[in-house]
Amino acid sequence: MWKKIGIGLIALITIAVLLNRTVGDRLMLKMMQKQVVANLSGASFAEFGDGLNIVLCGAGSPFPDVKRAGPCVAVIAGQQILIIDAGSGSARNLAPSGIPAGKIAAVLLTHYHSDHIDGLGELLLQRWGNAAHTTPTPVIGPTGVEQVVAGFNLAYTQDFSYRVAHHGPKIIPPGGAGGVAQPFDLPAPGVGSVVYDVEGLKVTAFAVDHRPIVPAVGYRIDYQGRSAVISGDTVKSTNLAQFAKGVDLLVHEALSPELVGLIAGGAKQAGAANIEQISHDIINYHTTPVEAAEIAQAAGARHLLFYHLVPVLPLKRLEPIFLRGVSKAYDGEVTVGQDQSWISMPANSREVKVGRRG
Ligand SMILES: [Zn+2]
Ligand SMILES: [Zn+2]
Repeated sequence: MWKKIGIGLIALITIAVLLNRTVGDRLMLKMMQKQVVANLSGASFAEFGDGLNIVLCGAGSPFPDVKRAGPCVAVIAGQQILIIDAGSGSARNLAPSGIPAGKIAAVLLTHYHSDHIDGLGELLLQRWGNAAHTTPTPVIGPTGVEQVVAGFNLAYTQDFSYRVAHHGPKIIPPGGAGGVAQPFDLPAPGVGSVVYDVEGLKVTAFAVDHRPIVPAVGYRIDYQGRSAVISGDTVKSTNLAQFAKGVDLLVHEALSPELVGLIAGGAKQAGAANIEQISHDIINYHTTPVEAAEIAQAAGARHLLFYHLVPVLPLKRLEPIFLRGVSKAYDGEVTVGQDQSWISMPANSREVKVGRRG
């Protein structure tokens, strides 16, 4: 009798556990389905509101970093999306940030160092497949962009044909594959070159100093009375400060010589000569956090967002060390960028809201 009751109880408990697991699984799958479809289709896109929004699709640098993708800045203005640089892994941050790749109007490149372009193939593919585009993605950049785009198009030739053959030309129209280069001449110092001007969203390219890498540009974005400047890679640049005059947001690269020096020292001790030498070399064509702060101060920028962080900052506790001296040089607000950092600047206001997508 007791044995029967015991078996019955075990059977009941087993059924309850199985049932619970089934209900739990179903709920989880439903949530996953809803979230993935919402992200890919841009269901949360309306959250950006009307105004200028900047989202970091990549806050990192060439350093391998599991926390920060390669440099990438998403500009969202009304219904338009522009992507500035496409570092490794950055395209994968778009959907989780509620940024539908299919709505990308154009990609802009600052220069052709690998860390700024190595995610371009993936980005172009996502845009094509997301919205059945019939024309390639415009890729705007200083002279040389033709070669970069032609190279990606060539490398993806086989993939293009696989996608069309598998899904059919209605879903994946062959004409939308890859990119189409839109080169512009490197503007002289003091001169701005308007490279995009559609429905009130204006992008002006200007020269920065990333020598020996030439051409290299930064971009100023203007939309509905709000503005942002994206530095690209540069040493401390007075030309950039001039173009950033009065901006709401300065998105600036930064390299901490103190932390990079530490890596060089460690590499020397470890006998890693290449890493030691490269760590020394990179210091001379980037901006230190304090120098970026000085630029922000000189420009009167209202908010400074650091991206393209060198070296990696795997722990939050390293950020105050990275920022040493910054608050003395700049009296505005500062954010150390992460992937999905979101700065929202509502139209025709002075508000600068800091948050994170995802
Ligand atoms: Zn560079
Ligand atoms: Zn770079």
